[in-house]
Formats: sequence, C-alpha cells, structure tokens
Amino acid sequence: MVLRMARRRTPPAPPATVAAARAAKPRCGLCGKTARLTQTECCGNWICDDEANYVMFSYARNSCDRNHRRYTLCGYHHNEEHAGSWQECAKCRKDFEAEDYVYYTTNEHNFETLANLPAFEPTRCVACGVVIRRGYEGHSRGPDGFRCEACAEMQIQQLQKAHEAGQPRNPPPPRTRAPRKGSARRKKAE
Ligand SMILES: [Zn+2]
Ligand SMILES: [Zn+2]
Ligand SMILES: [Zn+2]
Ligand SMILES: [Zn+2]
Repeated sequence: MVLRMARRRTPPAPPATVAAARAAKPRCGLCGKTARLTQTECCGNWICDDEANYVMFSYARNSCDRNHRRYTLCGYHHNEEHAGSWQECAKCRKDFEAEDYVYYTTNEHNFETLANLPAFEPTRCVACGVVIRRGYEGHSRGPDGFRCEACAEMQIQQLQKAHEAGQPRNPPPPRTRAPRKGSARRKKAE
C-alpha cells in the first residue's frame, strides 16, 4: 500500500482570518445553521428559511423564521406596523400583559433581548396554586383565571363527565393551549 503524503503547501491560516471567514458566512442568528437562509423582514437578520417545516395548526416550534415572527416583540411590532424600534415602543408595551411582554422580549426566538423588563406577579393556577410560566408551559385561561396543564386536563374531563351525565347548563370547555399561541392581538378597550 502506498501512502500518499499530501504536502501542505499553504500554512494554516492565522486565527483572525479564520474567524473573519466564519463571520462572513451568514448563519441563522437563532440556531446557527448555514444552509437555506433568508433575512427577516422585521430586523434583517439571517434566519433559517424553514417555514415549510411547520405543520398547520401543530403550533410546533420547529421553524426559526416562524418563531421569530410570531413569538417575539420584534416580529409583532413589525406585523403591527408600529413606528420606531420595538425596544422603545409604547404601543407594544400596552398590547401585552407584563408577563407576556417579558416572554416576548427575552425568549430564545429573539436575536437581541431586552434588558429593562417590567416586573410582574407570577401567574398561579386557580385550582392548585402552582406557578405557571405562561410563555413556556401549557395552560388554559378561563373566566376565573389560569389553570396549569394538569388542572386544565382535569377540568376538561369533569366537564365531559358532567356533559355525559346530562347536566343542563354546561359552560363551554376552556381552550387549552400548547405553550403560547400568541394572545397578543387582544385589544384593550380604551
Ligand atoms: Zn435557524
Ligand atoms: Zn426581527
Ligand atoms: Zn410596537
Ligand atoms: Zn393546577
């Protein structure tokens, strides 16, 4: 067997050049991939052109592009055609409850997160009292407040039983959501 020794003609590039070459190659600002990229409409950052991965109504979080557009203030601010920067937008701040505002400005779908965050009381389940991280954990929201995923599930089962038992007035079952579907469009009456 003949071993061909390749002669290295060019010396290894100095680190600075390597770093520069890497920086020059666009990569998704959220996950770091370099294939199939596009630029966001809201902020012009490179991002995976992956919306096709998303299955309608699955609410899966498998698309960088979709996640940034739908679950960040940057995307919301742009969709709503507000003026100025989202970081300083009073309209955006008004459109969200503090906990949701914090989620939209600090979650992993952001290129840049907000530093000055409003304080908020943690949301608790009205049934068992556990703290619900609204942006990250499944929950339901009914007229009496929020329910954690387990209590929401139990409530649905109880309602179903009541329904089967033929009770007269049935309140409509609460909507359960996968972690955040974006309740952002809720408008406050002024
Ligand atoms: Zn990505
Ligand atoms: Zn953006
Ligand atoms: Zn805005
Ligand atoms: Zn609960």
